[in-house]
Amino acid sequence: MATQTKLSLISACGIALLLFISVSLARSDEKSISYSLVPPPSCLNNLGENVVFENINNGQAEVAAAMAKRDKRGNPVVYRFNYKYSPQPLQHFMDLHECAHHQTGDVDLPHPPRNSPDHMMNESIADCIATLRIRDEIGTGRDVVLQAVQQLVEDMVKIGFSATTTYSRKSNILNCLEKEEAAEAFIDRILRHRELR
Ligand SMILES: [Zn+2]
Repeated sequence: MATQTKLSLISACGIALLLFISVSLARSDEKSISYSLVPPPSCLNNLGENVVFENINNGQAEVAAAMAKRDKRGNPVVYRFNYKYSPQPLQHFMDLHECAHHQTGDVDLPHPPRNSPDHMMNESIADCIATLRIRDEIGTGRDVVLQAVQQLVEDMVKIGFSATTTYSRKSNILNCLEKEEAAEAFIDRILRHRELR
């Protein structure tokens, strides 16, 4: 019974969430600042397909955001919207967060309702994978994570997320930073729980 419950919970968590999250508002007093773009990370989805990162500057507002999905031809892609408005640590974080939605299979699973517990679970997992990858793959990775989380928190406050949501997201990221586990092992556990591996 316990196993049954666990399995159904896990499969419910499997839902993809596309867009969220990594919405990042440029600071209103820094509208003229343009940050150079970081090179995209290597990213393979759970099926071993290469994920392509595509820059889109749509000229709307001073908002950076990212989205993981399959394009019209069915290829896995991460769209990077207006990245020049985000500092580089946050760019790394958004890239790897969106990559994580491909790595965990979120993109190909049914999407849970926005802001539902299942959705938030997927977001926490993606944040954790991004945190572990930055920590382990980028020089001075811990510092990059700490800078990214600070920038993320500032943006979430400006966008209007509640203090509770902002705090819990930050806490999750900081907890993940201390995990004695590499991203690959973490992803492996998720995929096995979802019976995708
Ligand atoms: Zn997300």
